Amino acid sequence: MKKQLAFSGGAPTVDVSTLPEELFHWPIITQEDEDAALEVIRQNKFSGTDITIKFQDEFALWQGRKHALAFTNGTMALSAAMFAIGLGMGDEIICPTKTYWGSVSQAINFGASAVFCNINDKLSMDPGDLPRCLGEHTKAIVVVHYFGYPADMDAIMAFASKHNLKVIEDVSHAHGALYKGRKVGTFGDVAAMSMMSWKGFAAGELGMLVTDDQHLYERSIAYGHYERNNAKHVTSAELSPYYEIALGGVKGRANQLCTALGRGQLKHFDARVQEIDRAMNYFCDKMEGLPGVYPLRPEKGSGSTMGAWYMPQAVYKPEELSGVSSKTFAEAIRKETNSAFCWEGGNFPLHTHPFFQTFDFYNSGTPSRIQFAHRDVRTLDAALKPSESIYCMTMPWFKKFIPEHIDRLVDAFKNVVDNHEQLLPHNDATAGGRWHGASNDGT
Ligand SMILES: *Cc1c(COP(=O)(O)O)cnc(C)c1O
Repeated sequence: MKKQLAFSGGAPTVDVSTLPEELFHWPIITQEDEDAALEVIRQNKFSGTDITIKFQDEFALWQGRKHALAFTNGTMALSAAMFAIGLGMGDEIICPTKTYWGSVSQAINFGASAVFCNINDKLSMDPGDLPRCLGEHTKAIVVVHYFGYPADMDAIMAFASKHNLKVIEDVSHAHGALYKGRKVGTFGDVAAMSMMSWKGFAAGELGMLVTDDQHLYERSIAYGHYERNNAKHVTSAELSPYYEIALGGVKGRANQLCTALGRGQLKHFDARVQEIDRAMNYFCDKMEGLPGVYPLRPEKGSGSTMGAWYMPQAVYKPEELSGVSSKTFAEAIRKETNSAFCWEGGNFPLHTHPFFQTFDFYNSGTPSRIQFAHRDVRTLDAALKPSESIYCMTMPWFKKFIPEHIDRLVDAFKNVVDNHEQLLPHNDATAGGRWHGASNDGT
């Protein structure tokens, strides 16, 4: 339909701030959650582990893994996973270049080198690029189920098993998502995830590690849980001389204000996810057939799902919209909806950050990424150009299935697509992206 876009001074198609709050609000906090939090405060239980251990048991059951171990945050849980698999000096660890830094930057703490892998048109690790990344010293793969879309685990696990590599799953965007009917977080040797306050599973500021492997579990405890690093929890001969101290030199104990919230969130998680799934699939169905903008979701009938649809994305193809950049298109959507949810580019490719090029953590005169490396893995980054020209942008993240409101957002996208030529004189082709997430504006 012809319309003067809000970008060019017209009236917005929809003013998101006038829609019911519950359409976007997350996480859902009830009286029960508030009571549980107050109980922690009143009894000064922040530093205990009684609530945390209950949450871990419930979470392990829900996740379908033997062990769950809570941490202060997801970054710390991922560090513990790296320690658990024995990542060490001179090892290489393969990670998709498009992800949040907390997926892999910790590798330098272990004297290991990140090797970056290209992403595919689903924004996640391209298994076809793994052979290029493989080296004599490759120890592990970190796979990220980026923006909720389950990575191609069949191909990735086959590659890992062929080359005897450990697999760490970063589930920070995809709690509860299924890959061909099986929950993500149950494929790798170990999985770790964020539960910080903007994520799909949101419990304040919290992380979780899950594994079936007793030894990896014990090493994860020993890494950052000094108060549990004892004969009751840690039995392996390798670790038993080192009780009562944190072997990573870090303190990973979760704050029980957060694990109390986590227990409440877990109780209702599947039901709430079902509602999100219904709303988001309705939105995606309505967006079908639109050129340029392809909301990311697994094929119907594949048995794969998006979990809580954390920060849902569309892959964007500028060539189908006269070359209008993702940056300019997203700006037009923000104006057309009078809101801030739509931002372009996801995370910048990690290899482009100076941290992975020159930063000298050890203060040794050598970039830390290659401090102990057997080859200059930075030279491999030249093959990552394809990942820099896959474009995406954030879609509205509906928490409630209210079709008449969802339709308005679809209308906004349709209007911008139909009238995209109005954007051409102002096209800004600068690469979009962020190093970390958007603000918590609820949408
Ligand atoms: C949020 C996030 C993390 C880190 O989790 P925190 O709880 O913020 O420390 C790691 N990986 C990915 C992909 C994330 O989005």
